[in-house]
Amino acid sequence: MTVRPILIHPDPRLKKVAAPLEDSSDAIRALAKDMLETMYDAPGIGLAAPQIGILDRMIVLDCVKEEGETPRPLVMLNPQVIASSDEKNVYEEGCLSIPEQFAEVERPRDVTVTWMDENGTAHQEDFDGLWATCIQHEIDHLEGKLFIDYLRPLKRQMITRKMQKLKRELARDGNDAG
Ligand SMILES: [Zn+2]
Repeated sequence: MTVRPILIHPDPRLKKVAAPLEDSSDAIRALAKDMLETMYDAPGIGLAAPQIGILDRMIVLDCVKEEGETPRPLVMLNPQVIASSDEKNVYEEGCLSIPEQFAEVERPRDVTVTWMDENGTAHQEDFDGLWATCIQHEIDHLEGKLFIDYLRPLKRQMITRKMQKLKRELARDGNDAG
């Protein structure tokens, strides 16, 4: 397992629409392990393949945050929201590609999601709370959409400028900012 470098916004690869996966494979299972390792290492509760520069429709997540609770790592290939509630929920969201920036985003409170796991098995499940928000956030990544795209232009530009500055600093320090 390898921790992969996470791309930092702005990056053209974070704005691309990712391609559906035909099936799972050993390569996909290896990638899933790397993505989970990268997510836990960050630490984060979700990661989409485009965030490590891979334009496949694949996300990983684990929204169990409480100490002592059993982790629930999920790998989703071709995840799709097939139904969502009229009721909304507001969460303060962040993103591993937009470090240390947070903002409130409103999304449907409950979602029904279909996906294929890393072994090729099809699933359907209802999610609410943080899980629902996280899944919608990660699926957005597969459409080239970031949580800051929900914010007002001024706020979005402010965050983007901060990220440009951060990337310059990382480049100057000789780190790989992706
Ligand atoms: Zn994100």
